[in-house]
Amino acid sequence: MSANLFDKVWELHKVGELPSGRDQLFIGLHLVHEVTSPQAFAMLAERGLSVAFPGRSFATCDHIVPTDAQARPFKDPQAEAMMAALEANAAASRIEFFGLGSGRQGIVHVIGPELGLTQPGMTIACGDSHTSTHGAFGAIAFGIGTSQVRDVLATQTLAMDRPRVRRINAKGALGKGVGAKDLILYILSRLGVEGGIGYAYEYSGGAVRGLGMEGRMTLCNMSIEGGARAGYVSPDETTFEYMRGRPYAPAGADWDRALAFWRSIASAEDASFDDEAEIDASSIEPMVTWGTNPGQGVGVSAKTPRLADLPAERREGARAAYAHMGFSEGQRMAGKKIDVAFIGSCTNGRISDLREAAAVAKGRKVAPGVRALVVPGSMQVAAQARKEGLDKVFSEAGFEWRFAGCSMCLAMNPDKLEGDQLCASSSNRNFIGRQGSARGRTLLMSPAMVAAAAVSGEVVDLRSV
Ligand code: SF4
Repeated sequence: MSANLFDKVWELHKVGELPSGRDQLFIGLHLVHEVTSPQAFAMLAERGLSVAFPGRSFATCDHIVPTDAQARPFKDPQAEAMMAALEANAAASRIEFFGLGSGRQGIVHVIGPELGLTQPGMTIACGDSHTSTHGAFGAIAFGIGTSQVRDVLATQTLAMDRPRVRRINAKGALGKGVGAKDLILYILSRLGVEGGIGYAYEYSGGAVRGLGMEGRMTLCNMSIEGGARAGYVSPDETTFEYMRGRPYAPAGADWDRALAFWRSIASAEDASFDDEAEIDASSIEPMVTWGTNPGQGVGVSAKTPRLADLPAERREGARAAYAHMGFSEGQRMAGKKIDVAFIGSCTNGRISDLREAAAVAKGRKVAPGVRALVVPGSMQVAAQARKEGLDKVFSEAGFEWRFAGCSMCLAMNPDKLEGDQLCASSSNRNFIGRQGSARGRTLLMSPAMVAAAAVSGEVVDLRSV
């Protein structure tokens, strides 16, 4: 049996073992944004330290950026202060910054891959939970806290406990209208939101190999929602094709060297894992969450679970979730009237997501009483969408077409739910209050399902629209 990708990449980046028993890991790429970095830079300054490897850090702004108008100063003084701090810190530390005037600004987990910064075999860290997204390339990527952002800035290393590795083998092919978002929501519903604690997930099997890079990013993005420390897909020709020609990808002789390295770190057929789980991908239908964590999801035509049928440890959470959402056990999600439709986020704000949603919206109108937003994940995604005329498709259907940012995924900007609005959302978290209203309610689903809900005014099976 041979080593899996995770173990190979970890060993290559291990600097040594710390007295605490943790490993010190070199971080190849550090992505920085405005929310978790100001304090980290301040801590660095307090200690008189400077950034050790500025060439390995790249910054952008995403969480607090207004998506309706981007004139400076921002109306929200706190948002303006965070933005100004990032600009100043990046300039003082000689860190490349993709700001609003760069044409390359966007959600940190969208721009890393599209610029070719994210590469197979790397260790990647960012002060944001959904850093697991970058694992789609066969990188091992960790979300880190503010004090760890400080550590990476000061030393380019992290002290880490090595997780075990679970392979999730998704056998068979995904059906029509079923994609990566449905696959990960299904996995979360099966393994639970704590099932991955102590693990990194390797996604494999025919259904995963059949996904494009953007689908793989969606899949890996939500690994953290399952409790896993990271999630990844071993690189293959699909990965290498995506990398070719990207601005920061290796070129010329460097490309050939990189390719040989990338192939060498892939998990072999006979690679060993600490644990394995198997999924029948062909049985999955479009998924919708009914609760207040991403593991509380169900197929669109199935009924919400009865409390008595759930494992004992999940019952109390389900009872509370039903109470908040105003749903009950044994109901179908199809037919639930929605108030808001949100297409965007680092899970589903890429060009393929917008194409799939636009295919549903084309020639249709947003249902009366529904507010629908499309927020591209980056300026480059927005530019590509405009080139393909997708912005017009959405606008003609009655969707608001916005500037790039996190928007209503987290509502750290003016895009928020009001009262107990029910929102069909292509984002990754349905926690209470996540979209800006303590009584707001979020239904997670694929971007095409969100578009279908927007034009129908209720949750519908995409395959019937
Ligand atoms: S889109 Fe949402 S999950 Fe992704 S980085 Fe922004 S706030 Fe975080």
